[in-house]
Amino acid sequence: MKRQLKKVVAAIALCAAGGFATHAVAQEPDVKLWQLSSGTLTLDKGWLTAMSGVGTRITVPVAMYVIQHPRGLLLFDTGNNVEVSDGKCANYWGEGLCGAFTAEQTRDEVIDRQLAKLGFKPEDVTHVIYSHFHLDHAGNIKLFPNAKHVVQKEELRAAWWPEKFQRAAYVLKDYDGTRDYDFLQLNGDFDLFNDGTIVILDTKGHTQGHQSLQVKLKNTGTLLLAADAVYTSENEAGVIPGITWNTNASMASIDRLKQIRDATRGEIWYSHDAKQYESHNHDKAYD
Ligand SMILES: [Zn+2]
Repeated sequence: MKRQLKKVVAAIALCAAGGFATHAVAQEPDVKLWQLSSGTLTLDKGWLTAMSGVGTRITVPVAMYVIQHPRGLLLFDTGNNVEVSDGKCANYWGEGLCGAFTAEQTRDEVIDRQLAKLGFKPEDVTHVIYSHFHLDHAGNIKLFPNAKHVVQKEELRAAWWPEKFQRAAYVLKDYDGTRDYDFLQLNGDFDLFNDGTIVILDTKGHTQGHQSLQVKLKNTGTLLLAADAVYTSENEAGVIPGITWNTNASMASIDRLKQIRDATRGEIWYSHDAKQYESHNHDKAYD
């Protein structure tokens, strides 16, 4: 009897040790992140902050990200189309759009050349994640014909047939001919590699299918790449964004990101905030 009990105790101890061993072995993956900008846009501040600074033109970055994960090389947004480079904006976007969102972009600032500076080729990119399909975010989808394209299903519908009041910022020729690309069509949140490091968050409001990206880095902590859910620090502080598909949903998404920021002790990174962008390091990876 005593011997049997001993055996049971030994077995339990072994299980517990095994359990601990599994935990110790399951390491967090090494993830690196670079924040880049597809040149700048000069625009009326009122596009970003409703009823605040209307009539004042400001110059802002066009944030995009390269993320290296053991299971793939990812992009989050792709910037303005390559054809917009080197003063040729009006040829591609047309005078009206270029007047409203004056793009300054050199050829070297386009995502393929920025990847090259980091030692990658466009063919190395396995996943392109889009916050949404507006001209300054999905502009270069065609540079990555063989990647998996990660986007909300509602955003694809909106991009192909936008509400009339939202049409201007969707440039159909950025993505015409891409219907047979490999799209991962999402309906809400998604943990891309099921390891908690790259989590797509539903932040609709700016557009019907807007999404943000939560990236967990070992040293830096949790970054909430808001994209156009939060253009600038003023939006985070409560100023309604200037361009919204649905203002109520937009404000709920800002609240959602703030709640996750507090829960994870993370940071919200904006899409078009010059001051915050300049405070970040763009030469080295965040890890
Ligand atoms: Zn934008």
